[in-house]
Amino acid sequence: MNIALIAHDKKKQDIINFSIAYQHILKNHQLFATGTTGKKISEETGLEVFRFQSGPIGGDQQIGAKIANNEMDIVIFLRDPLTAQPHEPDVSALMRLCDVHLIPLATNIAAAEIVIRALANGNFSWRDVLKQQKEEGYSE
Ligand code: PGA
Repeated sequence: MNIALIAHDKKKQDIINFSIAYQHILKNHQLFATGTTGKKISEETGLEVFRFQSGPIGGDQQIGAKIANNEMDIVIFLRDPLTAQPHEPDVSALMRLCDVHLIPLATNIAAAEIVIRALANGNFSWRDVLKQQKEEGYSE
């Protein structure tokens, strides 16, 4: 599965802790992240993470493009709901695209724990079926 990991600044430590705790699951998947989040995760865990631009300069939109292309299976986005973000429109657009394309989205650590455990249990294998169908040209 392709997994996007994003955390606003005050949630960076949470995503690092999450990545350390679930490294044994995450290492079996392709990881993508916004710039600073990805750098911190790979420094702290050694996990291989493809890094897009930093969120405020376009990283959220780059991940949104992957979603629109059906190339992202799960998004873990630890948002900071108490701090104004200069790129709030990008944040909203990313979450909207998750809803448009039915991509599982966790926006806080409690939901992220559920999503990662569901992933380990194989509960997202429907994403593989869907991708296969789209590749074979089934219409929606
Ligand atoms: P960052 O971006 O990982 O580059 O800090 C995250 C964000 O603010 O969207």
